[in-house]
Formats: sequence, structure tokens, C-alpha cells
Amino acid sequence: GGRWSKAEAVVRELEERCSTPAGKLRQVADAMTVEMHAGLASEGGSKLKMLISYVDNLPTGDEKGLFYALDLGGTNFRVMRVQLGGKEARVAKQESEEVSIPPHLMTGSSHELFDFIAVELAKFVANEGEGFHLSDGRQRELGFTFSFPVRQTSISSGTLIKWTKGFSIEDAVGEDVVAELTKAMERQGLDMRVSALVNDTIGTLAGGRYVNKDVVVAVILGTGSNAAYVERAHAIPKWHGLLPKSGEMVINMEWGNFRSSHLPLTEYDQAMDAESLNPGEQIFEKLISGMYLGEIVRRVLLRMAEEAAFFGDTVPPKLRIPFILRTPDMSAMHHDSSPDLKVVGNKLRDILGITNTSLKTRKMIIKICDIVAARGARLAAAGIFGVLKKMGRDTIIRDGGEKQRTVVAVDGGLYEHYTFFRECLKSTMTELLGEDVSETVAMEHSNDGSGIGAALLSASHSQYL
Ligand code: ADP
Ligand code: MG
Repeated sequence: GGRWSKAEAVVRELEERCSTPAGKLRQVADAMTVEMHAGLASEGGSKLKMLISYVDNLPTGDEKGLFYALDLGGTNFRVMRVQLGGKEARVAKQESEEVSIPPHLMTGSSHELFDFIAVELAKFVANEGEGFHLSDGRQRELGFTFSFPVRQTSISSGTLIKWTKGFSIEDAVGEDVVAELTKAMERQGLDMRVSALVNDTIGTLAGGRYVNKDVVVAVILGTGSNAAYVERAHAIPKWHGLLPKSGEMVINMEWGNFRSSHLPLTEYDQAMDAESLNPGEQIFEKLISGMYLGEIVRRVLLRMAEEAAFFGDTVPPKLRIPFILRTPDMSAMHHDSSPDLKVVGNKLRDILGITNTSLKTRKMIIKICDIVAARGARLAAAGIFGVLKKMGRDTIIRDGGEKQRTVVAVDGGLYEHYTFFRECLKSTMTELLGEDVSETVAMEHSNDGSGIGAALLSASHSQYL
């Protein structure tokens, strides 16, 4: 009837607006490359901050000793300790714990957030057991992974530029996050020194390099999205410091804030952005990352309920609640392989209170997940392609007789768990690079990479070296 065809029209329009043919992705990639140059040229030269990480050497494998890592940047924070044993023993032992952050602390005060972290960290340190050895007379050292944009002032200090991903703690903006953490640790009587402040992308790059020397790019696809890569130091005009001996500098792109007229933005994206905690910012992130994909789907469903009575004569009230449909639930529906799409039916019932959906309705919901996830994955691929182009790694380079290999370390729950997204990303990379070049480029899931990477960087910047 009329309702069904109206609903179909909404989905058809969504599909058109979200389409990302290869030509469009190439324009996005080129725009990314242009912005990378601009962001490297001058401070504030681009939406891409292209932040200097002060990491000019990635792990070699020689790192030794007991080091801690703390990862703050999403819904959970993690504490970790690793016993590094050098080339032979590698990561001799590791332990970690994950603690979810009480939501009120994400929008409270800096003091409260860092106190909470320091308390949990102190508890974790107190349980250091067998297999971990701190050399006599040494202070414990920590790599702090803080996954928000930070203007670094050294490897172990930096000021918060802004919050993203649902965090908003006004009094922390502009403050040195290492100083904040250090003060909170002191309040807990915890004797520990932060020897490296890194972003999760930098941690993932370091952790990835530790296991594979061909890793030169890291991408995060989790709650948010970001990327880091190894740049030639002399190609960073805004860097006025001494050129590092290695000739290299790792750059934290903060690509979540990328935007371009080539990005396929829909009315749903625009409304979601306008109503977000950070309107006008993190536009690329809002198209591709886990915090937002489910919310985009919810907005499409709401429109269909309102304009095409898609779920009956009244709009299901829960469908009006922002962020009620999370990306893990979207992905569970998307991957439903049962003949009657039971998972879709159950999710609609349990999350949105919508019962008795027909198979036809469930199929249309999968179609919407498909459109939104494919757009995100394809745009993420375009972003990576842009980075590879900037690095000159979008062609085959021979190093002697050997073809140079490029490995992109990828981490984050979206990439790890959303199989459709991951496979679409991979096939789009092949589409953009071409068969031959894509054989020299690999994406490797770097599990825990960011935590171990931070510990490794803490080791290579230890006060005892
Ligand atoms: P963070 O990005 O918060 O540091 P993770 O890397 O673990 O943490 O990513 C968590 C995010 O990954 C969640 O917010 C969610 O968006 C996404 N995610 C987790 N599980 C799934 C899943 N099964 N399917 C799709 N997305 C998922
Ligand atoms: Mg993370």
C-alpha cells in the first residue's frame, strides 16, 4: 500500500544520498591529502590538526623492564602492566583490567575524573604479583594513552584541546593532562611517573611496529575514529624544533575532524550533528565511527515511522530516544542470518518496544544497516587511501628487488566486531589501490596494541635510560 511505498522511497533516497562510488572516494582521499599538507604546514592551517607526537622512534624490541599503561578515551578505561624482556623474552608477562567510567564523570569535573582513575590505578598497582619485577630503587613508570586531541609540549606533557566522543569536562580544557593525572596519583599516595603521553593511534602504531616492522600507519575504528602515521620530519614545515636523528616524526592526524564538500552528508547526519555535544566538529568521525552508526539508523527509522507509519499508526516512543540503538545492536541485526530474521525481531522488541514486525519490515531494516555501514566503511577506506597517497605508498616501490610492504595496524571495537564493516573496508581498499598494489598493503588487527604500545613508549622514554 501507500505506507510501504513511502517507506521504500525514504530508503531509496537514503541510498542515493549515501552512495560512495569509487570516483567520490578518490575525491575524498585527495581532499584528505590536501588537508594533511595544510595541517603540517602551519598550526591551525587545516581542520586536520596533524598533531606532533614527539615520538620520533618506534619500538625496536629491545625494551626491558616493568611498565604500566593507562588507556582513557572511550566508555571504558584500562590499566595494564607488562614485563618487557627485550629481543628474547619480548612481552614476558602482561595483565590488564578494564573499568567502565561512570557516565556522570564524563561530564563532571576534571578533579573527579582523574581521582576516579587514580584510585582504580592504585588498586591495580597494589595487586602486582608474580612475574613482575621493578628494578631496585626505581620508580614505577607509566605510558598514558589519552585519546582526545592534545597539543603536546613534550613526550610526557600536553594540553587538552577539546573533548570528543561524549566527554565534556570544561575545566580540563587547556590543562596539562599529565599534570592532572600526576596530582591525582599524588592524592592517592601512588608513586608513579608518567614517562609518555600518547594518543591511542600512536599507541597502536607503536604496538603494531613492535610485532611487524612494516607497520607505518595506525587507524582506530572504535567509539571514535582517528589515524596516525610516520612522517618525514623535514616534511613538517610547522615543526621548528631540532630535526630528530631518525629523520622521522609520528603524526596524530585527528582525522575525526576532517570534513569536505565531497563527503556524502544526509539530513540525518546534519540533524545528528546539530544536536550533538560538539556541533560542526568531528564530521568524518560522525560518519564512520561506532558511537554514531546506530544513531544514524535510529534517525532513519524514526523518519519512516513518522512519515510512512512504518511501525503502525503511532510512532514507537522509544524510537525518539537519542542513542538508544547502539552500533553493537545494529551490527547484530545486520549479521542476522536466520531465515525469519529472528535477531532483528528481538532487537526491535527489546530495544525499541516494537513487536510483531513482518519479515519484509525486518529486511528493510537490514537494508538500512547495510547502507549506513557501507558508507562508513568505504569512507574510512578512502581516508586510509588518502594517507597512503600522502606517504607515496599507493604505488609499488621496490627496495632492491623486494616490493616494499605497508602494514596498517587497526584497532577498535567497531573494526574488531563488525564483520560486515571490516570486510567492506578491506574490499574498498582493494578497489582503490588496485589488485597489484593491494597485495603489498595489509591491514592487521592490533589487539591490545595501544596499551602495549604505550608501555613500550614509556620504556623507551624512561628516566633511567
Ligand atoms: P573505545 O573506542 O571506546 O576506546 P573500543 O575500541 O573497545 O573502545 O570500541 C568500542 C566501540 O566499538 C563501541 O562504542 C561500539 O561503537 C563499537 N562496537 C563494539 N562492539 C561492537 C559490535 N559487536 N558491533 C559493532 N560495533 C561494536
Ligand atoms: Mg580505545
